[in-house]
Amino acid sequence: MSIAVKDVTKYYGEQKALDHVSFTVEEGAVTGFLGPNGAGKSTMMKIITGFLPPSSGEVLVNDLNVRDHLLEVRKRIGYLPEHNPLYPEMYIREYLNYVAGLYHLGSLKKTKVEEVIRMTGLQPEQHKKIGALSKGYRQRVGLAQALLHDPQVLILDEPTSGLDPNQIIEIRELIRQLGHEKTVLLSTHIMQEVEAVCDRVIIIHKGRIIADGAEKELINLQPQDTSFTINVEFKESLSPELFHDLEHVREIIPQTDRSFTLLCKKDIREDIFRFATEHALILTGLSLSGQNLEEVFRELTREG
Ligand code: ADP
Ligand code: MG
Repeated sequence: MSIAVKDVTKYYGEQKALDHVSFTVEEGAVTGFLGPNGAGKSTMMKIITGFLPPSSGEVLVNDLNVRDHLLEVRKRIGYLPEHNPLYPEMYIREYLNYVAGLYHLGSLKKTKVEEVIRMTGLQPEQHKKIGALSKGYRQRVGLAQALLHDPQVLILDEPTSGLDPNQIIEIRELIRQLGHEKTVLLSTHIMQEVEAVCDRVIIIHKGRIIADGAEKELINLQPQDTSFTINVEFKESLSPELFHDLEHVREIIPQTDRSFTLLCKKDIREDIFRFATEHALILTGLSLSGQNLEEVFRELTREG
């Protein structure tokens, strides 16, 4: 089961929230939809799940056009919305039974409800009202309702937001497991989340896709002006202006009066070594920091 987003644009009144967005999500993997707040992640997810129509373009879920086959598509998708809407007065089981009723699960209802309670680790709190649950457990209830009809596709909008570190680890583990069998698209504004859970990442910024690939590929990606981050330390203090003699240095970030981070267009460690000798400086540290996804992200979303 795959998702194909084709040239989707979305306007809210005058404001363009999505600008000719196209991508595909392949089955049996966890794809991260990464972008800062306001990038258009939730809007895209609402369009994929058919809760919002695009202004133009189309979305296919397993070759079915969402616009023309809304009910069919909904049967195949489990959706955890951003503001997970729950009924605080309902007991967990009562709520899940209610949702199961909406999916017409018939005789399977009871087994399915028990199964999702087990899968999402809700047992310890299973007799409580939803309103009495912690944010982490409420999020599990949200995941449980998304899983009830055993959908092949899961759309999870910032599934770990607002959770404490332990809860985050547990929910991520659960998502990873689900990704073995299901097609998962999860949105996040947190880089480490992508590194921890996703097989692939699509980066969205201001309504446009700015990168799309396996995480490893992205790290090797060289957007214009990609920086090589070089950390350099000297025995003596020096003025950062001295580095202006060096070519390929784009930015100098003093850490102390003796240590600096240089953002360079090339790996210029040899030049720095010569530079130190020429200026009679003693190098006490020189390292190229590995580019991680966070740096790539910052690079790609840099203004201007
Ligand atoms: P994200 O989920 O990445 O934070 P959203 O999809 O929620 O981004 O929002 C994308 C842009 O669309 C933002 O600028 C947001 O303010 C705007 N937006 C979202 N929903 C609405 C709405 N219902 N009406 C008007 N503007 C909206
Ligand atoms: Mg959002």
